[in-house]
Amino acid sequence: MLQPMPSSARTTEAGRPTVLVVEDEAALLTLLRYNLERQGFRVEEAADGQEALLRVAEARPDLVLLDWMLPSLSGIEVCRQLRRRPATRDLPIIMVTARTEDQDAVRALDLGADDYITKPFVMEALLARIRALLRRSGSLATKGSLAYRDLVMDQDAHRVARGGRALHLGPTEYRLLEFFLQHPGRVFSREQLLDGVWGRDIHVEPRTVDVHIRRLRRAVNGPGEEDLIRTVRSAGYALDSEAT
Ligand code: CA
Repeated sequence: MLQPMPSSARTTEAGRPTVLVVEDEAALLTLLRYNLERQGFRVEEAADGQEALLRVAEARPDLVLLDWMLPSLSGIEVCRQLRRRPATRDLPIIMVTARTEDQDAVRALDLGADDYITKPFVMEALLARIRALLRRSGSLATKGSLAYRDLVMDQDAHRVARGGRALHLGPTEYRLLEFFLQHPGRVFSREQLLDGVWGRDIHVEPRTVDVHIRRLRRAVNGPGEEDLIRTVRSAGYALDSEAT
């Protein structure tokens, strides 16, 4: 870790917040996992209320996305129990309720949920609320910005610019560049990049890295600009200029 982190931050090794998704509908759970991972979050799952309490204790998530209607123990009961325990009293919780349960949403807030969203929801709206709540709780707020030469990444606004020119990066290229910016000059193998950027539990071919490096180069290096990504033969890649 090159970046100092406040001791209170519960963020994981790579600085990625963990979201525990408590949802008994398998299809929705899969969809949520996919979208949250694309945003760079680590995802833990629980399919009922009892499991949710266990996963919170084991995985120590930064935020819980909690469905109201759950087998074994309702979302509201899980919320109540989490609020009662000192270790999870301030754990950010977003309740997910059905459209017909408006009164319940109010009750959820009364019982200590930080926010709620009603089903069916727009994925972007949910992701924005998750980011906002993580920022409020300090899991995303301390990020600030990263820079290398004329490249600047504003991590809170999710914006990247080179020499004042805004760059448009896909989610994977963004995370790849963020990882490089955290360790400028250091050479990473494809496997190390897969671990650091994609995560250990995701199975991706090493040559996929090459595809994203190519896209990142195309986005970062404008016409006539120096290539900031160095290919190190049989070793990997680094954020570094060829000239050095
Ligand atoms: Ca449910």
